[in-house]
Amino acid sequence: MILCMFVQPKLLLYSSNETSTSIKMLISSHLRGCKRCQQALEQLKKTTSAVKDFMSIDVSPDIDLDIRILESIRKNSETT
Ligand SMILES: [Zn+2]
Repeated sequence: MILCMFVQPKLLLYSSNETSTSIKMLISSHLRGCKRCQQALEQLKKTTSAVKDFMSIDVSPDIDLDIRILESIRKNSETT
């Protein structure tokens, strides 16, 4: 289906609410009738939430420390 090829690359934006209203309406009306794109959207949601989980786990104190070090370096270079 030609519409699937149009819809599927935009599903990521659609799921994060970043498409324009007309495209959103087009996609949601297409999704109602297209199981393949519904599954693609579900898969995408799973993937993005998995990425978010991974990100929240991966935020370690070390990264925070790196940022603080970088900021203090930046501040020092500003004052001198
Ligand atoms: Zn489709």
